[in-house]
Amino acid sequence: MAVYLDNSATTKPCPEAAAAVENMLTENYGNPSSLHGLGIDAMKTVTAARQAIADKLGCERDEIYFTSGATEANNLAIFGAASAMKRRGNKIVSTAIEHESVMQALDELEKQGFEIVRLMPDGKGKISAADLRDAVDEKTILVSMMYINNEVGSVLPVEKIRKIVTLKNSPALVHIDCVQAFGKVDVRPKKLGADLVSITAHKIHGVKGSGALYVKKGTIIHPRTFGGEQEKRLRPGTEAAPLIAGFGAAVEALPDFTQQSRQIAELNKYARERLGTLEGVIINSGEDASPYIINAYIPTFMRSQTVLQWLYSNCGICVSNGSACAKGKRSHVLTAMKLSDEIIDKSIRISFSRYNTKSDVDALYEALRELTEKYPR
Ligand code: PLP
Repeated sequence: MAVYLDNSATTKPCPEAAAAVENMLTENYGNPSSLHGLGIDAMKTVTAARQAIADKLGCERDEIYFTSGATEANNLAIFGAASAMKRRGNKIVSTAIEHESVMQALDELEKQGFEIVRLMPDGKGKISAADLRDAVDEKTILVSMMYINNEVGSVLPVEKIRKIVTLKNSPALVHIDCVQAFGKVDVRPKKLGADLVSITAHKIHGVKGSGALYVKKGTIIHPRTFGGEQEKRLRPGTEAAPLIAGFGAAVEALPDFTQQSRQIAELNKYARERLGTLEGVIINSGEDASPYIINAYIPTFMRSQTVLQWLYSNCGICVSNGSACAKGKRSHVLTAMKLSDEIIDKSIRISFSRYNTKSDVDALYEALRELTEKYPR
């Protein structure tokens, strides 16, 4: 059995999600748009999932739009907002440490003539609210910021965005990528003052291929795809009912935040203590980062990609180097944090879920001890 410590890349589906998917594949397989019984049953399941997600987010059911994941939700939010808002200005404020799906969407908008401001983090991946305040102005049509960074776990000042946008008399829509926060902290779009919020199922023990965009009632964004009445024409196409059912079941199975946070915080503390006894290890994540993520420099001559392979083939341990979507490219997050090349090239990301225990941390510790002794820097 693998020791799975790569939960920011994806999580193991929970039994409830797996059962819900199987039921949709074998029994409840109608098209949710069909008017016969099987279609109606499938639509009921989709609606129940939408309600479960809305309840968790503290919003209305019809503010939830299903997508194929957060990459699509982020693209829909960003291009949809830019298109709907372009008459009011052309400036978009974001950060240099967003997920690729935000970074690359913004690169594309920049090519189309939008002015993109990418706020820089400090050495721990934190973004300053004062920098955000300085960047937002009356021409800013969108602020897009992640809640928790997926590589180092830093918590971004998303709670300040709405206040700043109002203070600066900006028409900007507020988009928050809550992928690494949803299910871990209490994400409530209304409390955050967000117009658009992206989430995805597979980071909370749902299945890959299902995500959602929260769109605050009354907010207008333009669709990216055309072709049907589904998702109120904002995201047409036959609903991925099995995956959506899995998403709903995973949300319903989420434990109480505070209880889970306590468990993960304890695990994080234990991991930091153990890793701290290995000479030369440097924790790149701040003390106040999300407890679910530890980014750490491993003192060896091997680059992180080789370390990952070694950990898996010798000890069955799964960790990663930065974002799974960047597939071995140099981390833009650690680069933006201005860490040295040595650290950027030899850092790994350890990420926890509620299924992890101290024995997983022990296994990682033993493996890294052996690795750093056999292959020192
Ligand atoms: N945003 C963040 C912060 C992520 O960590 C990820 C996935 O790694 C995504 C967006 C993309 O989500 P998905 O895999 O559902 O497309």
